[in-house]
Amino acid sequence: MPPAPVLSSFTFTFLGTGTSAGVPVIGCQCDVCTSADPRDRRRRASVCLRFTDGGGQERVVLIDTSPDLRAQALELALDRCDAILFTHDHVDHTFGLDEVRRFNAVMRSAIDIYAEQGTLDFLHRVYRHIFEAEKNVNTSFVARLVEHELHVAQPLDLFGLRFTPIRLLHGRQPVLGFRIEALDGSGEVASSQPGPLPLAYCTDVSEIPEETWGQLGGLKTLVLDMLRPQRHPTHFSTEEAVSAAEKIAARQTLFIHMTHDISHAGLELPAGMALAHDGLALS
Ligand SMILES: [Zn+2]
Ligand SMILES: [Zn+2]
Ligand SMILES: [Zn+2]
Repeated sequence: MPPAPVLSSFTFTFLGTGTSAGVPVIGCQCDVCTSADPRDRRRRASVCLRFTDGGGQERVVLIDTSPDLRAQALELALDRCDAILFTHDHVDHTFGLDEVRRFNAVMRSAIDIYAEQGTLDFLHRVYRHIFEAEKNVNTSFVARLVEHELHVAQPLDLFGLRFTPIRLLHGRQPVLGFRIEALDGSGEVASSQPGPLPLAYCTDVSEIPEETWGQLGGLKTLVLDMLRPQRHPTHFSTEEAVSAAEKIAARQTLFIHMTHDISHAGLELPAGMALAHDGLALS
């Protein structure tokens, strides 16, 4: 069997690297919020995986739909979305879902969404006009979605990629991270991985439970929450994030979900670690 991945042209792009309020923060005149460095402008956290599958079809998979999704999609000239995976039910990770209706229209097809049951329940409550469209007063232009439930440690294979949901703790709330690897022609994890893979995407985390450490070995890329220098009950601080990254020891670590307390150019990090910024693409 061919050990090489079946997909090609894989690119992992940071659509947003900011905390829930974004940076600049509304009404703030601090040095970071008024910075001229474009890397200090942070939209809400989400990422886009773009690649060509084994059949030659371009594919786009999103992790989370931030409230900035429309602007993020326009910036990247996205014209399709084949699947969306959700990490958890917070507003900064879900309130762009309405925007995907344009992908439905362009692609003339529904979009598969994947999340844990609690997140699916939240989406049903918030997006009643989508999930119970028959109750809308007028027939209206709403997203067409097909739901699928995710379970920790049960891999999801999509278009030649394997997404393994991993458990993270966001304060007291259990949320998902994803370990992402390319598959070979026999459906096994390919022995040679393209670009930044294997990669683990771990946003919104304040504790990595014991059961998860085994899923974070042998990474080329770790993407990890780093909120701000001061401690916080539901996110890793600078020190906690660096310490977790040292323990995980990926070849490169990129931090996300920063507040305006962190200046891109002003933060010094150990070798192999850096802040991500909006638009950064790994391929
Ligand atoms: Zn968040
Ligand atoms: Zn500020
Ligand atoms: Zn959150």
